[in-house]
Amino acid sequence: MAIIGGGPAGSMTAERLLRTGISGNSCSRNLQVTVFEEKLGWEKPCGGGLPAKAVVRYPFLLEACEPHAVIQEAELIAGSGEAVRFHLRAPIVIYSRSVLNSFLLRRAESRGARIVADHITSFHRDGGRWRLEGRNHAYHADFLVLASGARSSLRPLVASRFEPRDFMLTYGYYVPASDSLLRIQFLTDFEGYAWAFPRPDHLSIGICGKLNENSMAMLRERLHSFMQNFGYAAETAPIFSHLLPALNPNSWSKLELTGEGWAIAGDAGGLVDPLTGEGIYFAMRSGELLAESLLASAPQRYPARVGREFGRRLAMGARLAPRFYHGEFLGKPSTTRLVEFCSRSPAFMNLLQDLLEGAQSYTSLPRRAYQTFAKGALQMAAKAAGRKLSALNDLMKVRA
Ligand SMILES: Cc1cc2nc3c(=O)[nH]c(=O)nc-3n(C[C@H](O)[C@H](O)[C@H](O)COP(=O)(O)OP(=O)(O)OC[C@H]3O[C@@H](n4cnc5c(N)ncnc54)[C@H](O)[C@@H]3O)c2cc1C
Repeated sequence: MAIIGGGPAGSMTAERLLRTGISGNSCSRNLQVTVFEEKLGWEKPCGGGLPAKAVVRYPFLLEACEPHAVIQEAELIAGSGEAVRFHLRAPIVIYSRSVLNSFLLRRAESRGARIVADHITSFHRDGGRWRLEGRNHAYHADFLVLASGARSSLRPLVASRFEPRDFMLTYGYYVPASDSLLRIQFLTDFEGYAWAFPRPDHLSIGICGKLNENSMAMLRERLHSFMQNFGYAAETAPIFSHLLPALNPNSWSKLELTGEGWAIAGDAGGLVDPLTGEGIYFAMRSGELLAESLLASAPQRYPARVGREFGRRLAMGARLAPRFYHGEFLGKPSTTRLVEFCSRSPAFMNLLQDLLEGAQSYTSLPRRAYQTFAKGALQMAAKAAGRKLSALNDLMKVRA
């Protein structure tokens, strides 16, 4: 078995395939798994943030993957500048990616995976097996897992190429500073956002915007203005830039995750939330689902398992994203309304916390948002009426 890419998707696929002690699966005892990774444990451009659902499913991340930052305070800022600061009900755990990637790769290695530091330039079928061309050597494998991330040029060898509108472009800095506040700012009529994620010894500050709508210069300008507003200094900070999958609804409807002797996991398969840009959890989980399908000798079941567990939710996110970022509600941008409602209505704040924790499905989100809005409007009207009544009472007392 050859796995190209030793990021969260590739490392988790290998680890799960070889977890014999736990699974007791005889097939995995004889399995040889090789992970090809060109940049072992590197600082992959990323925010590095993991929501509660990730650490609940993978408690070893909190217990053994050090150092990490546990962030409990967050601020959401609208394009208008209006902001809501709040205490996160469930903290967001943030890693430097070199720490997370090295940890996951070592974990796979400790189960028996062979880690090969090589760049795979190409592969093709060779007498019923795969022949992989590396920079250093050629390799052979019976089954091929492509976990080579968003920028991989290898995807078109087995599946169709994604289009520019299937990506976000990102740009950012690793700022040498410390903080305990996570910030996210929406920008007016812009599909994407700027963020500042505190890590143990620096901040990941960046911006993501649709690739087909933005140039790097446009993103840089918007990010600099965000940084200036909040006093983040960029002068000496290392720069990062990368692609982030954000598949459009059409691409979700024809997702290709497996075929004759191959499968794709993580970013290489487009498995990122198009609304939030969250992908680490889905990379890890897709690796696990793929490994379990392979251990059951049923790789063909892997796409349906992905669909059931989170694929449909992410596809719904793809439909919601343009409406959320470009839409209006009651005469103002939806993102501004979200910030306003969250700062005034506990029910809306509750909804936001569920979204951040990954506990709110996108399928029922519009219905819940409208119900919450109606409830919030009633609460605010009751409050306002209460205020008027008590003002009237005060007035009557003064007159009496
Ligand atoms: C700027 C930015 C911010 C983000 N912030 C967040 C966040 O805060 N939270 C979150 O959940 N997600 C975030 N994401 C998404 C997240 O980074 C990805 O979803 C996640 O890394 C996907 O894991 P992966 O294993 O599929 O791919 P990757 O992490 O990209 O790993 C692929 C690996 O394959 C290797 N590789 C590629 N080609 C070859 C080859 N030919 N030969 C050998 N090795 C190869 C690469 O070196 C790499 O290590 C962000 C993404 C970006 C770009």
